[in-house]
Amino acid sequence: PAAGGGDTIFALSSAPGRCGVAVIRASGPGSRGALQSLTGTPKVPPPRVLALRRIRDPDTAETLDRGLVVWFPGPRSFTGEDCAELHVHGGPAVVSGVLRALGRLPGLRPAEPGEFTLRAFRRGKLDLTAAEGLRDLIGAETEAQRRQALRQMEGDLGRLYQRWSHSLTQALAHLEAYIDFSEDDNVEEEVLSRGEVLLSPRRVPSGMPSPPGVTSGCVPAVGVTVRALEREIRGHLRDGRRGELLRGGVRAVIAGPPNVGKSSLLNLLCRRPAAIVSPAAGTTRDVLEVALDIGGYPLVLSDTAGLRQATDPVEREGVTRARHRLCQADLVLAVLDATSVPPTPGALRAALAALDAPPDTPCVLVLNKADLLGGHRGSLSAACARGPPEPPATLLSCKTGEGLESLLELLMQQLARLCGDPLLGSPSLTQSRHSRHLGACAAALARFGRGDSGDGRDLAVAAELLRLARRELGRITGHVGAEDVLDIIFRDFCVGK
Ligand code: GDP
Repeated sequence: PAAGGGDTIFALSSAPGRCGVAVIRASGPGSRGALQSLTGTPKVPPPRVLALRRIRDPDTAETLDRGLVVWFPGPRSFTGEDCAELHVHGGPAVVSGVLRALGRLPGLRPAEPGEFTLRAFRRGKLDLTAAEGLRDLIGAETEAQRRQALRQMEGDLGRLYQRWSHSLTQALAHLEAYIDFSEDDNVEEEVLSRGEVLLSPRRVPSGMPSPPGVTSGCVPAVGVTVRALEREIRGHLRDGRRGELLRGGVRAVIAGPPNVGKSSLLNLLCRRPAAIVSPAAGTTRDVLEVALDIGGYPLVLSDTAGLRQATDPVEREGVTRARHRLCQADLVLAVLDATSVPPTPGALRAALAALDAPPDTPCVLVLNKADLLGGHRGSLSAACARGPPEPPATLLSCKTGEGLESLLELLMQQLARLCGDPLLGSPSLTQSRHSRHLGACAAALARFGRGDSGDGRDLAVAAELLRLARRELGRITGHVGAEDVLDIIFRDFCVGK
């Protein structure tokens, strides 16, 4: 997208297509003039107050529609520039008439995807993490996704990274002050070999100002700060991809032997015949995928070919794909025929082990065809309720729907565990872009901690490592060197046409 310059951009900001109300937005120095031209009067409504106006074609003075207009003088607007909004009736001819009229005004041009948000970023209205949060909010399909995106858009993640960046700035200031004050001392060797730089007011020569943040009686230890920060960043990186799982959906795979009811389960869960249900074994040969909302959590569920020794080459390919999917799954729904599972202790674990699912992947065991169970229904149901070390399990009948509630409950528990509560604790990491920079940041801090400063033990190199670490944080929020990622981040924004 072009840099936010002197031109004025406009776009349909609501979804394209027939609708009750459509919102057309303009941003830039020409917004006021555009509003005046289209309302046919030099009088602009008071800032941020909706006003009902006739909207006219400036060339012919023909009324295009009657709608609400708002005037947002900068900097108190979404982009920080002068902005105007027209809320018109959402008929395609109304919208295209207004857009055409705007396009004929001098200095106005249609916006590129994401350009309004890009301008807001350039004017410091939001940082990159907030812009990504806004994009995720527009894309959010479940409650938990919305909560996480809203939190990020409101700046929680950005503030966390800013706080880290701030501690690094402080540590760096201490270190630089130390370098200045100790130029003649031969202390560098000792300082770095302990991997820790201690600064105390006692060491500041009299008459010199204290380094920033150094108050009497406190001994700020740069090494300690840096180590604590590295630990915190690594903890954030290790959060089990919760934020990313929630953002992209938890990938769950239905696995099990042929003919146990895997396709029936998929159908039951998505309440539509998305999968072929057939009494002949080996009919599901490809991988089917549906996106579901389970209690506010996003689940991307795939049905796979039954895991068995296949002779037919097409089915064999299906089994290979199923195994591949299974390895990538975040969650496995293991389906078995309940009548084939003995109600003996450890039987559930044994049945699961026989499926050969990746051992570290969370799993829910579904004992299907419960309607066919005879005498040992009670003991099997007790086995399901037993809990660890038995896997989470439930009886189900895809035929009668019995057990669906408890399956959904089990699934929700697993999803809540995998995704976490997006409103609790520190905000989650949501983008691989962030983990890359955080990884590089933590690596620089680790090198600092080891006193591993490349060519010899040099305080100047140690300071450079802190600067490097801070730069990586700045790239996430866009405070430094963001140009190369702007296109990637902003092109995914929708723009009305
Ligand atoms: P898949 O091969 O594992 O995907 O199994 P399908 O979903 O194709 O089902 C295989 C057969 O089992 C079909 O005839 C289904 O109608 C039947 N079936 C599925 N679930 C149940 C159930 O809960 N009870 C009974 N009695 N039959 C079921």
